[in-house]
Amino acid sequence: MEPRKFPLDEKAIPESWYNIVPDLPFGLEPPLNPATREPAGPGDFAPIFPEEIIRQEVTTDRYVPIPEEVRETYALWRPTPLFRARRLEKALGTPAHIYYKYEGTSPSGSHKPNTAVPQAFYNKQEGVRRLTTETGAGQWGSSLSFACGALGLECTVYMVRVSYDQKPYRRIMMQTYGATVHASPSDLTQAGRDVLAADPESSGSLGIAISEAVEDAVKHDDAKYALGSVLNHVLMHQTVIGEEALKQMELAGEYPDVVVGCVGGGSNFGGVAFPFIRENLKGGKDTRIVAVEPASCPTLTKGRYVYDFGDTAATTPMMKMYTLGHSFVPSGIHAGGLRYHGDSPIVSALVHEGLVEARAYPQNPTFEAGVMFARTEGILPAPEVTHAIKATIDLALEAKEAGEEKVILFNLCGHGHFDLAAYEAYMAGRLVDLEYSEEEIDRAVAQIPG
Ligand SMILES: *Cc1c(COP(=O)(O)O)cnc(C)c1O
Repeated sequence: MEPRKFPLDEKAIPESWYNIVPDLPFGLEPPLNPATREPAGPGDFAPIFPEEIIRQEVTTDRYVPIPEEVRETYALWRPTPLFRARRLEKALGTPAHIYYKYEGTSPSGSHKPNTAVPQAFYNKQEGVRRLTTETGAGQWGSSLSFACGALGLECTVYMVRVSYDQKPYRRIMMQTYGATVHASPSDLTQAGRDVLAADPESSGSLGIAISEAVEDAVKHDDAKYALGSVLNHVLMHQTVIGEEALKQMELAGEYPDVVVGCVGGGSNFGGVAFPFIRENLKGGKDTRIVAVEPASCPTLTKGRYVYDFGDTAATTPMMKMYTLGHSFVPSGIHAGGLRYHGDSPIVSALVHEGLVEARAYPQNPTFEAGVMFARTEGILPAPEVTHAIKATIDLALEAKEAGEEKVILFNLCGHGHFDLAAYEAYMAGRLVDLEYSEEEIDRAVAQIPG
């Protein structure tokens, strides 16, 4: 039988995270304090993050050692498998070799525990008793709930009201891991009470839930806040994906010509891509790196590269990134994890400097790709990942056209077992493909403060 799996044992779990910042051939622009517009310092982040996380956010160390307790917790599911998609290759009739790294074997079914575990660990180490966070559909909330449960912290999750009511399974999962879950807006915070006073029936938003989680952390000495994407330390924690994939590709006896990932805030993409970008910059390799996003939230492909707020309420430090404007409300596409107006500052800079190329796809063709993947490879992918699968299939068909034996690696960052309603909507023909005109983007971007 031809090999499809390239297994590693626990000893191969990386001993360090890779920080791409010192290897970048350009400087990064610092976050700014929203009030003074001066570079934000550690003091701006101290009320919400522990010291070690703040240090990692700004460090220029190329490698940061992974604490043994974090590696032991990673060993519950890491190393994750790398597969060769031989059946998909055959169905496409392509000479390309398609590989995928599968992060869906984690406790919450996605890559997010890779950062939830170290964030819980450093908070516990600094005497924090409880972590607060927001969650939309529940992927990040369930990952942080698992990590807090595993390391002995309490966890409070503000879950956007509409998901709380309509998507009970992730909520039940969080509660099973021991978290307390509140529908947001709630009457537990000033931010929530203000929204409810204006609209008692408010269905909530990620922006409101962030404001509630941050306020809860700031007002309680024993609590801090945790964020699941966008920030430098989060992307760095995710590099275990790419470091393992490098070793597994070596076992496969191949090296990728192209690496593909989907981008919401950029964390799973950075996680798989940064170690390969290091090899491009330092190891003489020449791998194409492709970031894929939804056409209905086209941050990297149609956004502006400017300073903007991270949240809708315009309270976070301002970051230099590709953005559609913090007031941009993407249409209700089913890939909830990709509905963010901004993007990681590092991923944004890599796209701006031409080291990473970006593509956007509407949701119907991506679900078509996801269904083809499920029927050939067996794994039912999260709607977010179907964007990476669609790009991979297109690249494999381009290779077929050109008669080239390209090696393509993509990150299958989560399974879609909690997203079956989206597949149902797709199969019933109820998904709408939206694209924004330049005028609509211009209007949203005009809201960004100069
Ligand atoms: C959260 C999530 C995303 C989007 O977040 P990134 O930080 O861009 O990775 C994508 N896919 C899945 C499965 C997610 O859970």
